[in-house]
Amino acid sequence: MDHTGPGGTAVKTIALVAHDNCKHDLVAWARYNVATLARHRLLATGTTGRLLERELGLDVRRLKSGPLGGDQQLGALIAEGEIDLLVFFWDPLKPLPHDPDVRALLRISVVWNLPVACNRATADYLISSPLLAAPYQREIPDYSDWQERPISPGEGGDRPGDRDG
Ligand code: PGA
Repeated sequence: MDHTGPGGTAVKTIALVAHDNCKHDLVAWARYNVATLARHRLLATGTTGRLLERELGLDVRRLKSGPLGGDQQLGALIAEGEIDLLVFFWDPLKPLPHDPDVRALLRISVVWNLPVACNRATADYLISSPLLAAPYQREIPDYSDWQERPISPGEGGDRPGDRDG
């Protein structure tokens, strides 16, 4: 890691996602921390966001529901450097139709060195961190070697005869 990324302000962008069996836990956690959460920009997958608005009156930018593409929207925002922290209460006891999206969301979070809380204890640690209310520039891995790696013709360049006829 050799350069710093966005998010260097005291107001963070916090993403919240909970699977159906975990929504109760997330709302309870958010209720306990509502004053802190209200000081930050919040976004959530569709149903999670609707619940947080309805139950706690929080102002939440709502993406699509997770199984309908919300997880992927969030993954794209993470790759763009738009998210500072993810609270993702995923269900460890139930296979879901969008398991590939869930895996992808967890994976892209690691790729971009994003702090992620997958249970309440970790979420407690993150939300009580002094870094939350301070400018903090997390390190963003330098992937320039990967992005500029040589591409051989067999990996997508024109092959002989491609333009014939
Ligand atoms: P939801 O999506 O907030 O729309 O329920 C959560 C998820 O399953 O990823």
